[in-house]
Amino acid sequence: MRSRAVFLYWLLIFVPTVITGALLARLLRHEQERLTRTAQTAAESQARLIADQVSAAVQDLENGLLAQLQAIPRDRLRSTLEAWEHDNPLVRNVFILGPDGNPLLPEPGQSLTDEERAFLRRYAAFFQSESAWDPPRGDLGEPAPVPSPRQEVRRSLAQTTRVQKLKTPGAGWLPWVSDNRLHLLAWVRPAQAADGYTAYGVEIEMAALLARLVGALPPHAAPGYAYALMDDADKVVHQRGAEEIVASTRKLTTISLAPNLPHWEVALYGTGATADASRGMALLSGTLAALFIAAIVAGATLLLGQARRHMRDAQRKSSFVSNVSHELKTPLTTVRLYAELLAADRVPDEAKRRHYLRVIVEESQRLTRLVNNVLDFSRLDQHRKHYRVEPLELRRFLSDMLQDQRRRIEEAGLQLEAALPDVPITVAIDRDALEQAMLNLLDNAAKYAAAGGKLRVELVPRPDGGAAIRLLDRGPGIPPEHRARLFETFYRVDDTLTSSQSGTGLGLSLARRMLRELGGEVRFEPREGGGAVFIVELSRR
Ligand code: ADP
Repeated sequence: MRSRAVFLYWLLIFVPTVITGALLARLLRHEQERLTRTAQTAAESQARLIADQVSAAVQDLENGLLAQLQAIPRDRLRSTLEAWEHDNPLVRNVFILGPDGNPLLPEPGQSLTDEERAFLRRYAAFFQSESAWDPPRGDLGEPAPVPSPRQEVRRSLAQTTRVQKLKTPGAGWLPWVSDNRLHLLAWVRPAQAADGYTAYGVEIEMAALLARLVGALPPHAAPGYAYALMDDADKVVHQRGAEEIVASTRKLTTISLAPNLPHWEVALYGTGATADASRGMALLSGTLAALFIAAIVAGATLLLGQARRHMRDAQRKSSFVSNVSHELKTPLTTVRLYAELLAADRVPDEAKRRHYLRVIVEESQRLTRLVNNVLDFSRLDQHRKHYRVEPLELRRFLSDMLQDQRRRIEEAGLQLEAALPDVPITVAIDRDALEQAMLNLLDNAAKYAAAGGKLRVELVPRPDGGAAIRLLDRGPGIPPEHRARLFETFYRVDDTLTSSQSGTGLGLSLARRMLRELGGEVRFEPREGGGAVFIVELSRR
């Protein structure tokens, strides 16, 4: 019944704790997700800002270059373009196209540099083939194929967006992918073809373009972030931020730089603080929830343990009260009965009268011992017990005491055997306290070990000048499971109502407490061959 109540209390605490802990963990997870989302949004807008800055820089550069191209006087076209190719670091190659799409510059027939040959090869399909100048079919209405691999995106982008423009008069920029690299071509197609050419333009030196873009990038990344300019081969061409971007750095977001620089991207990375922050948050929230549950469960367990101990103590105290009452009642009844008989002069037999008187004396002694125990118990509990420590010769003390008690012990059915040393042993002790402890041990032997038939009391000197008094009986001994708690207050091996011997459970605990306060000890040892050995150790002091 009681353990069911304890289990219920435990459930009452544990279930709400677990539910609260789970809710807390959920709440923290949501909060963490929200923080991650906010951080992602912030990162995206930061990356977008940077991408816009880069795009604006490219746009500026393109507009400027295109305006310059268009402003070239017709009669100095070839010489100006050649000079640009030579002097302008932004210009990698220049070209002039004839009406049939054949390049007039660089002239295929002439001795060409490797770069010029590569340039012509790069754009051969574009310059010469009529079909290449046509807009791809996807642009004419059919849905364009969904470009999943990046290669696909490159080809379709380069050959769809701007080729069409070059066919019609005007000017513009053509991103062109060849050998997996992005090239930028600026072209001008005058309304009227003149001097044998139809279009001209320049190819941009990407390295020089990049150098200009780097200048346009914000000089610092926000703390905890790093951003990078990625080229079409997914290579970091430039990065900013306190920490270097490595393969394991967490990429937060990428923003494409199309249409100005197709396939180029601005990528934003979370470094150190931001990358660890969400992991740290997860760890922290998990730890907090676990700590919360552990603290409550530990507190509840301690409280319930305490409650259990209190309950047990209360139970022991109530059984102590009923035991004491019983212990008082029995001798009182006997004393009263015999005293009444004697007072009424109804015992004519002299021997019987003496016997009654002796019983009255013994029973009142028993009452005194009991009352002394209870009084000492309360004094010890309130720290009011005082001792008078004086030298005491133990051999004499023991033989006197055993002589007093012999009759009582033998009447209980025990044969008393004393083994005292030849020489006196003197220790400093409170005589009354030692006597009470010894009486309790002798009482126990008489109560529990009478069936053993013999009680041996030994006094043994110790090398350090102290002494040990050993009481050896052949009674039932103390079962191992009870030994640890034997000296606890109110503890009785058999505390049931059907117990054959009444008692209060005070004797051993009082003996130990008093002797310890006096620098001694009482121990129990099982006796070889059965029985108990109680050992009182006294120091010389
Ligand atoms: P009480 O004798 O009043 O019950 P004690 O503190 O003196 O209380 O003893 C505690 C318990 O130890 C006893 O209830 C008894 O079961 C056990 N005990 C003590 N002495 C002996 C002994 N010599 N032999 C067997 N059991 C003993």
